[in-house]
Amino acid sequence: MPTNQFTMQDPRSQYQMGRTEKDSDQPDPGLDEILKPKADHGEDTYVGSDRLKGRKALITGGDSGIGRAVAIAFAREGADVVFNYLASEEADAKVTLDILKDSGIKAWGIAGDISDESFCNDLVAQSVENLGSIDILVNNAGKQQFVAELDDLSTEQFCQTYATNVFAMFWITKAAVKHMPPGASIINTTSIQCYQPSAGLLDYASTKGAITSFTKSLAKMVIDKGIRVNGVAPGPIWTPLQQSGGQPAKKLPEFGDNVPLGRPGQPAELAPTYVYLASQESSYITAEIMGVTGGQHLP
Ligand code: NAD
Ligand code: MG
Repeated sequence: MPTNQFTMQDPRSQYQMGRTEKDSDQPDPGLDEILKPKADHGEDTYVGSDRLKGRKALITGGDSGIGRAVAIAFAREGADVVFNYLASEEADAKVTLDILKDSGIKAWGIAGDISDESFCNDLVAQSVENLGSIDILVNNAGKQQFVAELDDLSTEQFCQTYATNVFAMFWITKAAVKHMPPGASIINTTSIQCYQPSAGLLDYASTKGAITSFTKSLAKMVIDKGIRVNGVAPGPIWTPLQQSGGQPAKKLPEFGDNVPLGRPGQPAELAPTYVYLASQESSYITAEIMGVTGGQHLP
C-alpha cells in the first residue's frame, strides 16, 4: 500500500488482494460498503497541491469506485464538488461526502436516476445553484450487467444500459455546457471495452464505443467555447460494478490478472489522470482518450 500517490515502488506488487468467488455476491447497483476485498480510493493517501483550486466540479457516480476516487482527488486539489448517485447508494454517498468535507472545500451529494432526462436537467440546475458554475464535468456513472447469451439479453436491459451510459451523458452535457466558462473541461469515462469488447457485454461494450465517439465529436463542437473534452478508458478496476453482475461471479477471483501488470487496478490509480485532464496542465489536449489499463493498451 503506497503512503501517497508519489511513492516509488513496483506497480505489480503495489496492491495485494486475496479474492474468492464467495466475495462476489451483490445486487445491482453494487455498494462499496459491502465490497470484498475493499477498494482503495486514495482516502488515506491522495495528497493535493492546489491543482484545481477554486474550480467547481460535477461528477456522476461519485459515491463509489472510480467516481469516489476522482471526487476525493478533486476535493484535495481544492475544487468544490457536487456528485450524483442512486438513492439506493445513500450509505456509500455519505462516506464519500464526509471525506470530501474533511478537505475543507464545499461538497454536496445529490441522489437521483440519470436515465431520466428531467432528472438530468434538475441535477445540472441544482449543481449550478450550489456551485455557481461548472468548470469540470465528469460523466462517470455507468451500468454494466454481464449476459452470456444473446437470447437472454432483454430489450429492457439494452435500453437501460444505453439510457444510463449514453443518453444521460448527452442530457447532462447539453444542460451543463451552458454554465461552463472557457477553460472548462469535460471528462467522460469510457472503457477498454470500447476497443476490446467481451462477449457477454454486448450492450455495455457498445455504449463505451458510443461514448468514445461522442467524446471526440463533442470536443470538436465545443472548442469554440474554449471547453476541452476528453475520455478516460479504464482497464479492469476493482469496484462494486464488477461484483454486482458486471462480471460472472466465477471470473472475479481472476478479474484483471490477465493484463501485463498482472492485477486489477484500484480506483485510486485512476484519479491522477482525471485531475490532469481537468486542470490547465492539459491545455493542449482535447478529443483524446487516455488509457489506464495495466498495460492492456488502447489501439
Ligand atoms: P461503481 O459501481 O462504483 O460506479 C458506477 C456508478 O454509476 C454507481 O456508483 C452509480 O452511482 C452510478 N449509476 C449507475 N446507474 C445509475 C443511474 N441510473 N443513475 C445515476 N447513477 C447511476 O463502478 P465503477 O467501476 O467505478 O464505474 C465508474 C465508471 O467506470 C463507469 O462508467 C464504468 O463503466 C467505468 N469503467 C469501469 C471499469 C471497471 O473495471 N470497474 C472499467 C472500465 C470502465
Ligand atoms: Mg456506487
